[in-house]
Order: sequence, then C-alpha cells, then structure tokens
Amino acid sequence: MREKGCSREEIMAYLGRRRGEDCPSCTILSSMCTDPHPMALEADTLFRCTNLGDPGLFPGTAAIERHLVGRLGVLMHLPGAGGYATSGGTESNIQALRIARKMKPVKRPNAVVPESAHFSFDKACEMLGVEMRMAPLDGRFRMDAEAAEALVDRNTIALSGVAGTTEYGMVDPISRLSEIAEEKGIFLHVDAAFGGMVLPFLEDPPPFDFSLPGVSSISVDPHKMGMSTIPAGCFLAREQRMLDLLNIPTPYLTVKQEYTLAGTRPGGPVAAAFAVLEYLGREGMQAIVEGCMANTRRLIDGMEVLGIPAVTIPDVNVAAFPCDRVPEGWRISRTRQGHLRLVCMPHVSRSVIESFLSAMGELYA
Ligand SMILES: *Cc1c(COP(=O)(O)O)cnc(C)c1O
Repeated sequence: MREKGCSREEIMAYLGRRRGEDCPSCTILSSMCTDPHPMALEADTLFRCTNLGDPGLFPGTAAIERHLVGRLGVLMHLPGAGGYATSGGTESNIQALRIARKMKPVKRPNAVVPESAHFSFDKACEMLGVEMRMAPLDGRFRMDAEAAEALVDRNTIALSGVAGTTEYGMVDPISRLSEIAEEKGIFLHVDAAFGGMVLPFLEDPPPFDFSLPGVSSISVDPHKMGMSTIPAGCFLAREQRMLDLLNIPTPYLTVKQEYTLAGTRPGGPVAAAFAVLEYLGREGMQAIVEGCMANTRRLIDGMEVLGIPAVTIPDVNVAAFPCDRVPEGWRISRTRQGHLRLVCMPHVSRSVIESFLSAMGELYA
C-alpha cells in the first residue's frame, strides 16, 4: 500500500472513473440483480454501519431482520417460519443441505436436484461431501418428478426443486415433489431465490411454498426481484429447530451461539429489503412484477415476429431463445445449452425492450 495517504478528491476521482467503466444498467439484459429501489438505498445508508453478526449490539437491526423473515414467511404461507437473512441464494442453498445432512446422518449422502439447478448446488454438494444426483428435465425445462423419484434411495438426504429457474424461468412440479418428500420422509428444499419475489404476486401462480406440506425450506432473494441492495438473501425453514441444528458456540459475542454461515453480516441490505416491502406493499410489488411479466411477453412476441420463437413459455420473467447472433453493446447471457437468455428485471423497461428488439430487427433484416 501507499506510504502516505492521498486526498479524498484524488480517490473519488479515481473511483468515479472506475465506476464509469461498469456497464450502464440499461444495457444489462443478463442479470437477476437490478437497480436498488430508492427506498432500499435510503434504508441501507441508515444501517450501513451495523453488524448482524453480533445482534446483541444491534438489537434494532436484529428486530428488523426478524420482521423481514416474518413478512417473507407470511408471503410463503407460513407465519412464524424460521429463518434469517443470508448473503443470497448460494448461502441459503448451502444451509438447506447442511440441515438436511444433520437431519439424516448417513455415510454416503446424496441430494436429488434438477439438471436446471443453480451452480450453487455444485458448491454446496462439494463442500458437504454430498453426491449430487441430477434429474432430467421435461420438454418444457421443468424437473421430471418421476425421474427424480427414481433417483431417490436410502442415502438421499434432500430433494430440491427450483421455483423460477435461473436459465429458463420455469417452476418445477413442486406439488409432486412435496408428495414424494412426504411419502419417503425426505427434506425438500425449494430454491425460489429468483421466483420467490415474483410468484406470490402473479395472478394464478403454481404452488411452490410452505402451503405444500412436504416443503421443508425455501431460498428467496430480496436482492433480485425484491430490489434490495446487495447482499440480501433469505433462508426460510418450516421450523426454527431445523436452524438450531446448525448452532455453533460463539464464545465472545453477545449471543452464545449462531447458526448462520457468515459471521459478520451487514444490516444495511436487510433494512433495505424490509423497507422496500413496506413501502410498496402487496399492490406495489404486484404492479412491478406485472410490468416485468408484460415486458417478458412483449420480448417473446417481438422475437417471434423476427422468426426467433422462445424455447419455452416461462413461468417468471426470464426468456430464452435459440439465437446465436445479437447486436453489439448489449450484455446478454447464454444458458448451459447455448440459448440466448434474457432477464426482464425492473431496470429493463419497456423502452429498453423496444430498443433491443429494433436492434435485433436490423441485424436480422
Ligand atoms: C440467483 C440464484 C441463486 C444464487 O443466488 P446468489 O444470490 O447469487 O448467491 C440460486 N438459485 C437460483 C434459482 C438463483 O436464481
């Protein structure tokens, strides 16, 4: 590092230049994150200097975390669900598998997940020494539940489905998975990292949450469609005692034990996530989600006119197309199967969709 510090002006000028190198959000069609809501920024600023890793020092912030978990539990049809604010879907998925492994301590554990599972399951399974068994998808990119059932054996500690897949925006047949989980007595984790803040606000969503009796835990990320600041995830468990299985003694903190994966945890994004929910209410969230879904439909219709039909009709605001060439300047992504993948987040406004479509039109004219 420098021997002598440099001035605030110099640092800010440097940081400003670097920040200017980042992609403008109106060109980003590939991300599940979005511009935080102004309410989120304001709340985050107020709580910037808090640490949920030592909640006894920040009882006010800790109360907000409990409220956030409470609100999300109600949204997932289980008032009083256990849970805590994580750094995102990855941590939530890791925690789900940790719990499942504690609940069924077999020698050679395996977890059955769909082929569409987020790569965080690869990390989780590798870290925990759990064999990851991938169930194939059906023609619409949803987990084939019967194939999943066939992969379950005595050593299966967890079954998992995705509610809003990262690549194709599909909801797996969670009701069927719930039946299988109940029948066989296995832990069922629903990865609703993305869809958890979309599906509850749709007209007639497929069932995916604690309303299904076999669902043991859910991942839901406010830093995606919840428009919070990053990092704001939430892990929800049907019973608080499931989390308590992960308790580790914490000698020098204000609490005696903790079940979180991270130690030091930011309170800002948690306050931000809560503030956005309070500010918008169900009506406000519904309006935003409806807008994103309408933009997704417009994108799919516009691409169809160009002769590029979507590979499937998505359940949430993620669309995939068989399309190799895209105009310059847009940040797009590809699925593992090579399809063009676009996410219609709140920052992807109707006018952004129209400019993308017209650039596509020129390219394919
Ligand atoms: C985004 C996502 C994750 C990972 O979440 P992070 O917040 O990036 O850790 C996990 N599962 C699904 C389905 C996701 O969409």
